[in-house]
Amino acid sequence: MPVIRTVKDYIRTIVDFPHEGIMFRDVTTLFADPRGFRMAIDQMLHPYAGEQIDKVVGLEARGFILGGAIAHQLSLGFVPIRKKGKLPGAVISEDYQLEYGEAVVEIHDDAIQPGEKVLMVDDLRATGGTAEAGIRLIERLGGEIVGCAFVIDLPELGGRKRLEAMGMDVHALCD
Ligand code: IMP
Repeated sequence: MPVIRTVKDYIRTIVDFPHEGIMFRDVTTLFADPRGFRMAIDQMLHPYAGEQIDKVVGLEARGFILGGAIAHQLSLGFVPIRKKGKLPGAVISEDYQLEYGEAVVEIHDDAIQPGEKVLMVDDLRATGGTAEAGIRLIERLGGEIVGCAFVIDLPELGGRKRLEAMGMDVHALCD
């Protein structure tokens, strides 16, 4: 009997990275496998079949890999949300809380036109803080978020509930 692998089977866990006590979910092994990567892109798009989407937004950094592939698949443009100081043009910014301290994410202020329908993607949702900051940036530019798609959800950290409380349609391929 052939073994049917799921997306989760291609993700590896690195213990004690980047700090002791952290179990890092590493999607580079998923991206490196042609079947795994194709499966992840197809499954991330599945809930949005038939929906109007105008742009794909990816969160730095692994959201760029997923978002680029999804945008290409849909023949749409891709927009990056980056950490502070990385984008060359005029930007708008949002602060958010990390486990230790604060971070800032930015988007070019002309990257999304008012009324454009946006799919936002990233590799992993934990507390949902990064995604919430991304949603605020997109909405400040007048974008309408069709959905937020992730490969992995860490359910005990509450990100799904947090984003659903903002009225978002959220999907993850595995816990
Ligand atoms: P949140 O803001 O707490 O939801 O954390 C999500 C962000 O942290 C995403 O941009 C992820 O790429 C990153 N992240 C946190 N933990 C992991 C992990 O175990 N593997 C990969 N990325 C992670």
